Amino acid sequence: MPRRKKMKIEEAKAGGERPRGQLKYPRLRGMKDILFDEYKYWDLVYKKATELARVYGFKRIETPILERLELYERATGKSTDIVSKEMYSFVDKNGEKVALRPEATPGLVRTYIEHGMLNLPQPVKMFWLGPVFRHDKPQAGRYRQFNQFDLEIFGDATPIADVILILVAYNFFRELQIAVQIQINSIGCKECREQYIEKLLNFYKERGKRAKLCYDCKKRLVKNPLRLLDCKEEVCIKLREDAPQIVDSLCDSCRDHFIKVLEYLDELEIPYNLNPYLVRGLDYYNRTVFEVWPVEEDGEKSRENRAQSALGGGGRYDNLMEYMGGRETPACGFGLGIERTVLLIREKNIPLKKDDEDYIFIAQLGEQARRKAMNLFEEMRRSGFKVRQLFTKDSLKAQLEEADRVGAKYSLILGQKELMDGTILLRDMESGIQEVIDYKKINADMEKRLSEKNKQTKNGENSV
Ligand code: AMP
Repeated sequence: MPRRKKMKIEEAKAGGERPRGQLKYPRLRGMKDILFDEYKYWDLVYKKATELARVYGFKRIETPILERLELYERATGKSTDIVSKEMYSFVDKNGEKVALRPEATPGLVRTYIEHGMLNLPQPVKMFWLGPVFRHDKPQAGRYRQFNQFDLEIFGDATPIADVILILVAYNFFRELQIAVQIQINSIGCKECREQYIEKLLNFYKERGKRAKLCYDCKKRLVKNPLRLLDCKEEVCIKLREDAPQIVDSLCDSCRDHFIKVLEYLDELEIPYNLNPYLVRGLDYYNRTVFEVWPVEEDGEKSRENRAQSALGGGGRYDNLMEYMGGRETPACGFGLGIERTVLLIREKNIPLKKDDEDYIFIAQLGEQARRKAMNLFEEMRRSGFKVRQLFTKDSLKAQLEEADRVGAKYSLILGQKELMDGTILLRDMESGIQEVIDYKKINADMEKRLSEKNKQTKNGENSV
């Protein structure tokens, strides 16, 4: 067996995973299962997203995973990689061309138009969390189904709206203890862009530069010249160094808008880098575009790698609503990648806050005791206690191990003797000290003990 294959099989085994080759029905390439141990990080990240969205006045919204293919062809753009190369699209049983959502914004724009949201007080601020699908080449941090945290602001043309989005994105990562820098640029409006593209084309026409460009960039020169700027090929990166920059071609109004955004970022002390090569891959953006890049500790990674591992991106798209058949409505938004966020938290070993819930474990010994204990569990749960159990097991040892595993503060143990005496055994899980208490006084007793215990405990400060 080739050495690499053997190593892969051994690695898979070490991780408790069966090698894909041995499975009858392995999961699809580029798809990911999120198992128990990882899910606590997802909970944390979702909680942070939900909390920040609420604080900044965004309301949650959900849209279908499946939409008409046309929606993305029109909004995202037929010539983009996402639509032309990566979309999961098919014809359904009614002969309708449909697609799995490759990004959230088009569906959210559709919702705004379809539900007449322009009649709501403006701006309309949407918070969205969900899976998106792109048939890209899988690699570390790049999946074919992945999740995004999206915020969109509709009906607000002010630079403050752009700043709020960047602020939330920055806070999101910072509060998850991930160091990031905002990459920012302005790609202006239609008018300034037209002028700039002319300058750019003239630049590439000079002295045989065109011939040196990579194959894709030669095509971009005709189809989408702005994308020459974010090509990842070494020769194209070298060539673009002397290219004119779009910020020098901005009209007065676009320049003012951009300067205001930057002034606020300075004021709020949000670290950013003016990145003249940032254009984003989609057709609909205008004015502010930004990405969130992790700050590398080793400083070794190439620029290209950092762009590949962007944690999120967004920008303004003031013309999309009208382009999609709605009334002219300025808008901006972002999408942050959940998988890459979780990956970084895990890679950097950022400790999670201890689950500090006041769990009470209810254990039983014997058939009769189990019946009563199950009722006690229901009563305590309804009264608001955070109870846990393992009623399927008979062994007290197994039950107390589970109590330890969930981090229970106390266990209440009901056996034959306690059943007869009208008592229950209370075990402090930290000290192991046990005492007998009156069955009728369980609730009052537990409330008192938990509030005393909570006065003594505090969480670690450097955890998330
Ligand atoms: P985009 O919509 O391409 O701007 O992507 C926004 C964010 O989603 C990126 O910065 C990544 O964090 C995440 N992302 C994009 N593509 C993938 C992918 N194939 N797998 C995992 N995360 C992704």
